[in-house]
Amino acid sequence: PNSKAGDGKPRLLLMGQRRSGKSSISSVVFHKLPPSETLYLETTTRIKKESMHSFMDFQVWDFPGHLDYFDPAFDVDNIFEEIGALIWVIDAQDEYLEAIMRLNTTILNLQHSYPNINVEVFVHKVDGLSEDYKGDTFRDIIQRVQDELSDHGYENAPVSFYQTSIYDHSIFEAFSKVIQKLIPQLPTLEALLNSLCSTCHIEKAYLFDIMSKIYIATDTSPTDIGSYEICSDYIDVVIDVSEIYGWDRPDDNDEKDDTSHSEIIEIGNNDAESLITMERKGNNYLYLREINKYLALICLMGDDSPAEKKAVIDYNVGVFQAALKQVFPRAERDVPLPEE
Ligand code: GDP
Repeated sequence: PNSKAGDGKPRLLLMGQRRSGKSSISSVVFHKLPPSETLYLETTTRIKKESMHSFMDFQVWDFPGHLDYFDPAFDVDNIFEEIGALIWVIDAQDEYLEAIMRLNTTILNLQHSYPNINVEVFVHKVDGLSEDYKGDTFRDIIQRVQDELSDHGYENAPVSFYQTSIYDHSIFEAFSKVIQKLIPQLPTLEALLNSLCSTCHIEKAYLFDIMSKIYIATDTSPTDIGSYEICSDYIDVVIDVSEIYGWDRPDDNDEKDDTSHSEIIEIGNNDAESLITMERKGNNYLYLREINKYLALICLMGDDSPAEKKAVIDYNVGVFQAALKQVFPRAERDVPLPEE
């Protein structure tokens, strides 16, 4: 409902001050850059608009920190009319008072003109902070934003806070939560996943966007810390994400003659033979199935789920896959979407 883009797809906007970590975040999450290599990234000095080759085609607009977004020279309407969420990155390892002032100004402006835009505050680079300091910083930032909002009578502004770092899974979990708020079909997806879990005695099921490893839905059972990690690591083991990313590049448009595609991906594009694996991993069984060219279902099962049950699971996941096709008909297209 927030997205007014012509294509109806949710759009993300990444903002924050210079050196807060915006380029690093989009490189790590969307381009699989190893976190340590972000040290050599050039800081953002312009507005970058990128299309993501994932099932949602969301965009990250990387804004340089020193621009004044509400300068009349900016086409504010053009920018804000089309986005669903504004991600504001704050460097928690640095002085953050000025960043908060700018954030508050931005939120107040948005509340006035675009009250439906979710503001998602990433308190970022928390990897370098001690547990105590991390908690204090997080609470202090929340307090300063909320005080300002209530001073202006906006008690219920859609503003959320996350602690993030590119050096662990927190940045992916935060993005997952941000994205899920923008998927109108989320309740349907959750209901489908709940039903799959109870029919097949699955502990946790995630629907992953393969390329970004953001999960776009999970069943509503409580999330055990660590289950996301186990499942997202499994994607790396089973699917060569860089191949998928390569597959969807605009210059790869001519279909068949690209020999660099791995066999898995070729198979994965034909959902009659989509990739299915089940493996024991420590005390768990992991089940992965490609749902379409963007999405994979990954299920985590306990030790008591013998591999013989695989046939039952295969069948029920097939039912799930068919239901999902109705929810996301667009993702079944096997032609890369055109660039803007
Ligand atoms: P931008 O100007 O907002 O695009 O910031 P950059 O992405 O260029 O990041 C600035 C610096 O912050 C780089 O040296 C990154 O390596 C570093 N950085 C980004 N994210 C993190 C993080 O989660 N933890 C730590 N410790 N450093 C980070």
